[in-house]
Amino acid sequence: MPSKPPAAPVSFRLLNARLARATIPAFGYGVTARARALLAGYLARAEQAGQTPEAVADTLASGATARALADEVTAEITAASPALTRDIACRSGCAWCCIFLEGDGGLITEAEALGLHAALSALAGQPDGGSWHPNACAALDPATRNCRAYDARPMICRSFISTDADACRENAEGGDAEGSGTIGSHIDYLALLALSREILRGRRNLATYSLDRLACAATAGATAEAALATARHAPRELRLTCEDFADSI
Ligand code: SF4
Ligand code: SF4
Repeated sequence: MPSKPPAAPVSFRLLNARLARATIPAFGYGVTARARALLAGYLARAEQAGQTPEAVADTLASGATARALADEVTAEITAASPALTRDIACRSGCAWCCIFLEGDGGLITEAEALGLHAALSALAGQPDGGSWHPNACAALDPATRNCRAYDARPMICRSFISTDADACRENAEGGDAEGSGTIGSHIDYLALLALSREILRGRRNLATYSLDRLACAATAGATAEAALATARHAPRELRLTCEDFADSI
């Protein structure tokens, strides 16, 4: 049987051509077009700055590009909507949103998983979120109910906001109260990840991970390699997360 020809090397031409064709079945035209424009701008800037296509592909695969671009969108939304920050109930020590009732705590990228691991592995053996609530994130400090990896917390934690902490508490106990949700840039983040995976197909693997499993493994003292292996999602999880998100809005 003839062997498969080796994949052609990554080039900016290849990445741009794939980006122009890529679609995200879960999201509509507007969301896809916005993410496509953000990534096109990123590729143009990276090429102009003299970055190699291989390095750019690595950064895309780690999820770091999607996160940086989504952070910029978050900053734009926040600057344009003073009411958003004025009206939210989120405060230090309020941690009902750090209780994982179902699922695996949310989807994080490799860059986020490694950042969390670096922040949490030094705390191995100390009381974790489980000492406060059986379903709390292991990254939580059970005494202060603050995140012990605050600067490294992933996009899902940064995106989640609420105007009503009592509603969050009710939901943490299995309720269905209104008042909480994700900031608008979270859909851009997911779209950026989905498009990044499409344009890297066959060249790099954009993997995703479970926040819950990664935090548990890191605080249990696992190495970064072992924690990533424990927390790694099946490839379909990104698509399912995009579909769930689209259904929820
Ligand atoms: S999202 Fe809800 S539980 Fe989390 S900090 Fe804000 S008000 Fe508190
Ligand atoms: S990483 Fe931090 S902010 Fe995110 S769920 Fe865990 S304790 Fe809460």
